[in-house]
Amino acid sequence: MKFELPQLPYAADALEPYISKKTIEYHYGKHHQTYINKLNDLLPGSDFEKCDLDTIVKKGHNGIFNNGAQVWNHTFYFSSLSPNGGGKPKGKIAQLIEDNFGTFEKFQEIFTKAATTLFGSGWVWLVQKDDGSLEVLKASNADNPLRNGHKPLLTIDVWEHAYYLDYQNRRPDYIDGFWKLINWDVVESRL
Ligand code: MN
Repeated sequence: MKFELPQLPYAADALEPYISKKTIEYHYGKHHQTYINKLNDLLPGSDFEKCDLDTIVKKGHNGIFNNGAQVWNHTFYFSSLSPNGGGKPKGKIAQLIEDNFGTFEKFQEIFTKAATTLFGSGWVWLVQKDDGSLEVLKASNADNPLRNGHKPLLTIDVWEHAYYLDYQNRRPDYIDGFWKLINWDVVESRL
């Protein structure tokens, strides 16, 4: 199976001023594309040649896992954002967040702290577990909660390449901007 870079659901400059056109051009146009190219290079002749991306993420290892999961994670991340996003969620996702974390603000604090303190490169996830409860998880490098049987609802990329052009080493400022871009309708659709 040959994978292709999915279209972004917005223009490259649409997330400004929080994520610049230049960052999108590098992060989506070069980093995301490179993970796809590397995955496509590794698949022929491997056990995963005919597998879909979810299977590669759940069962893959080494380079096939690393590149496959980075493809999955970036597609999920970019599709979680919108120039009309931000604010507080409504509906079922809002209720679940309140049920599990007390208030939206408390959830925001827990997620922000996880994203701020994750050491090195990785992702912070909001997931739904088998019992229906929500949890915030830190994950290093390309790791993805599908490998532990959880349903991913939202993620933030905290690899430096996600924010360095706009914020240099100021990861907390990037995280502040991320909250202003979350497309809660998309998050709710993943429940
Ligand atoms: Mn990235």
